[in-house]
Amino acid sequence: MLELDTPTFRLAVAQFDQAAEIMDLDPNLRERLKLPQRSLVVSVPVRMDDGHVEVFTGYRVQHDSSRGPSKGGVRYHPDVNLGEVAALAMWMTWKCALAGLPYGGAKGGVAVAPNRLSSAELQRLTRRYAAEIFPLIGPDKDVPAPDVGTDAQIMAWMMDTYSQQVGYAVPGVVTGKPLSIGGSLGREEATGRGVVYVTQEALKHLKLSVENTTVVIQGFGNVGSHTARIMQQQGARIIAVSDVHGGIYNSKGLDVMALLRRDPSQPLHTTKLGEAITNEELLRLECTVLVPAALSEQITHKNAGSLKCRILSEGANGPTTLEADRILSEKGIFVIPDILANSGGVIVSYFEWVQDLQRFFWSATDIQNRLQSIITSAFQRTLHFSTERRVSMRMAALMSGIDQVAQAHLQRGLYP
Ligand code: GLU
Repeated sequence: MLELDTPTFRLAVAQFDQAAEIMDLDPNLRERLKLPQRSLVVSVPVRMDDGHVEVFTGYRVQHDSSRGPSKGGVRYHPDVNLGEVAALAMWMTWKCALAGLPYGGAKGGVAVAPNRLSSAELQRLTRRYAAEIFPLIGPDKDVPAPDVGTDAQIMAWMMDTYSQQVGYAVPGVVTGKPLSIGGSLGREEATGRGVVYVTQEALKHLKLSVENTTVVIQGFGNVGSHTARIMQQQGARIIAVSDVHGGIYNSKGLDVMALLRRDPSQPLHTTKLGEAITNEELLRLECTVLVPAALSEQITHKNAGSLKCRILSEGANGPTTLEADRILSEKGIFVIPDILANSGGVIVSYFEWVQDLQRFFWSATDIQNRLQSIITSAFQRTLHFSTERRVSMRMAALMSGIDQVAQAHLQRGLYP
């Protein structure tokens, strides 16, 4: 479909096609699952602080809902477009199915640079976006969450806007909310914690110890910063991290807590806590674990050949292109694919939604233990499948996820 034809969507479809081919997926299903179930494009007019009105474009795409309500984040980034949102929605479908969550996949977004807006403008944008996608969302229909450029405050405004429309508090309409309105303990750090749990499993599998592990992280937002903090707590050495402006490097290990204490608007490379390096140099550093935790298509045929990590643990969605995958496999780099490595976020979102629906809340220890158990078993199943079928970890993860969705479609049958 022409409207969806962007590099990120092409990547998601090419991955799907490769998996569908190996698993000999029903051709009718193949056609359907390549495309989203529903896509909504909305105009979001916002009165700016100076009085003029600016119109932003927003999206909500539901890729599949055969196994339950669709689930997925909302991204605020200037490059957001329909194809990217549709790709991210498709990845959510496989991610939820792989983890065994009773959800389909969705994603939303607004093409906006959130840091250029005042807090009041951001609130008006969020409320109008939530009102525009209101017909599509709901605790039984489609449940948004944070993603790049959005956070708990934005989820609170979305929850309030939805609740105002129906006339009562509906905490289960979004996840990643503040605790005071039905958020869950451990949700904020969940994606990072999940990255750490699966990385520990990969280290064990490769017979490497956490103490001798060096870690390089691209991106120091929600995923990258919590991954760095928890990985360091587990005994690993974080030798480099970066943000959009560039990175910092210290072979003896960075003081992650000091980096977290800085004013978040201060670029990392200006902190003097390490040597300033570029994002490209960071990806080429020698390390045990490289964690891309920024945007998609960062590891490509141009730089994959110069990666010097043992494990690639994909905190971001879609960070690696198909051509790069081939190169990484030739180099023997162990890849923990995105839909597995970063599934901690949606797993704890699922816990939050269950707690909201039950009006019964769990302890932080409950959350951590259940997250570890679900994500570790997804890792072990994927590893087993990959060894047994002699396919890459990415293909194994995709095939397991796609298979769950295919079964649901075939058993429900085609309507009407
Ligand atoms: N945005 C996150 C992701 O890409 C979390 C989605 C969710 O919690 O629903 O997995």
